[in-house]
Amino acid sequence: MITVHAYAASEAGAALKEFTYELGPLGSQEVDIKVHYCGICHSDLSMLNNDWGMTQYPFVPGHEVVGEVVAAGGEVETVKVGDLVGLGWNSASCMHCHQCMQGDHHLCETVEGTIVGRHGGIADLVRAHWSWTIPLPKGTDLKKAGPLFCGGITVFNPIILAGVQPTDRVGVIGIGGLGHMALKFLNKWGCEVIASSSSKDKESQILEMGATRVVNSKDPKALESIKGQLAFILNTTNVTLDWDAFLSTLAPKGRFHNVGAVLEPMAIPAFSLIMGEKSVAGSPLGSPALTATMLDFCVRHDIYPIVEEFPLKEVNQAMAHLEKGKARYRIVLKMP
Ligand SMILES: [Zn+2]
Ligand SMILES: [Zn+2]
Repeated sequence: MITVHAYAASEAGAALKEFTYELGPLGSQEVDIKVHYCGICHSDLSMLNNDWGMTQYPFVPGHEVVGEVVAAGGEVETVKVGDLVGLGWNSASCMHCHQCMQGDHHLCETVEGTIVGRHGGIADLVRAHWSWTIPLPKGTDLKKAGPLFCGGITVFNPIILAGVQPTDRVGVIGIGGLGHMALKFLNKWGCEVIASSSSKDKESQILEMGATRVVNSKDPKALESIKGQLAFILNTTNVTLDWDAFLSTLAPKGRFHNVGAVLEPMAIPAFSLIMGEKSVAGSPLGSPALTATMLDFCVRHDIYPIVEEFPLKEVNQAMAHLEKGKARYRIVLKMP
């Protein structure tokens, strides 16, 4: 038995308090990770508050883990004790379904979430299947890498899915935790990147992140100025937008891709898609192999989120900071 020292909420919306639990024997395909850093993502907050109706308490959040392998089961071939690794939203896949067999482990019907029905990474130790325990490339900045395992792969996968070309002019809607990473990726991809944001105060910072230009998302004239120009738009917001106005900024064959989960149905006029052979799509996270590819790309181009670091003991202050919408742009906890 291993005793894990974590932080947990006892009920929906409760403060996180010190909490210990026992882990049984390590499975032959499992890995124990000593947590060095753990990002806090908006999904941690949604789960803590049981917004999605699937949280089990006591609830230990944390699914943007960077740490070190301290134990590996007998059948684990990909990592060994002492390796630096990351763990994101997913912690296990079945490894034999059709989706797993074609490399889409994130689309596995029985994929296990790191903080869904089990305890997450705001702890000294977290356990996962080897498939989602991703080795960090040499030179990775451990302090900033955590958010790449959830927010990072969420915005990187759509670039691959949409087949974005370096010659493309593209758009990113909403420059927060997800959007700012998308700007950095697309800039290094070679694209001309138009950021759509409603906060004037962020403009100079948005340009520094890699946007070529910022348009005010609330100004119809600003969208009119880029009509028919974008090959790809990544929407990271979770609010209802003027969908038709944004679709009109797509070039023919363009793709409007959602990673922000707006709960209200999206009212999309069919003709806005039909006439220019446009499409609307969405995606969750990405596969383990693509996560590894993304990490290589990040190290090569020095792409990291802008993070605010909190010590573990200030986890509740960090959560409150996130809840107030003050995070600039991702929060990372440093483990003692
Ligand atoms: Zn997340
Ligand atoms: Zn599967």
